[in-house]
Amino acid sequence: MSQLKRIHDYANDFLHLFFPEYCLGCSQVLYKHERNICLACYLDMPKANYHNNPADNALNTKFRGRTPLRFALAYLLYRKGSAVQAMIHKLKYDGERDMGVYFGQLYGQDLREKGYHFDLIVPVPLHPHKKQSRGYNQAAAFAEGLAQELNIPFDEDVLAKHIFTKSQTKKSRWERWAGLESSIGIKKADLVQAKHILLVDDVVTTGSTLEMCGQELLNAGCASLSVAAIANAAD
Ligand SMILES: [Zn+2]
Repeated sequence: MSQLKRIHDYANDFLHLFFPEYCLGCSQVLYKHERNICLACYLDMPKANYHNNPADNALNTKFRGRTPLRFALAYLLYRKGSAVQAMIHKLKYDGERDMGVYFGQLYGQDLREKGYHFDLIVPVPLHPHKKQSRGYNQAAAFAEGLAQELNIPFDEDVLAKHIFTKSQTKKSRWERWAGLESSIGIKKADLVQAKHILLVDDVVTTGSTLEMCGQELLNAGCASLSVAAIANAAD
């Protein structure tokens, strides 16, 4: 062991002793080599396992007849009051961006083992004001972890959330979403043409956000569309 490594380990132990990290699922103090969540919470996470049946599962069903999807994927099942809800809440509202990257890496390993490949990963955009106050887009953190494991690119700026005033809404093609103050637009259509795009988000409830984003990608001429979420809210 090099002298530098020894000093690094010593500093790490010292920091851990005085500034312990807590599990984002159950709030217990983490062991030194645990990351974001403890082993018990990791083992307890309810896996959706949709990647074993990507064209016929509870997420795919939400889009049937609305958006043509090649694969519908989610890492976990989302239930209110669960540790998964606590983890995702901390990812979204408590600055725990690394939890999103970690979820992406964990699920990316599962997808890689099954031989999944996509050309580009595109996260659902966050409203610019929200991104500014939060400092990051949690869906992009998940995209980053997936991209690392699958060794494919991700681009946070392919889609953007726009705000329209009422008069602009009247004039624009967004009329069909009349009443909504914001909507999704595509900024980099050339990047998605003829590509298999993996569109990603944190939690899927009704699927309407993914549907809006997916429609933009399909209109821009992507070859096929798949979606992946950290968790799917299933009954
Ligand atoms: Zn825990």
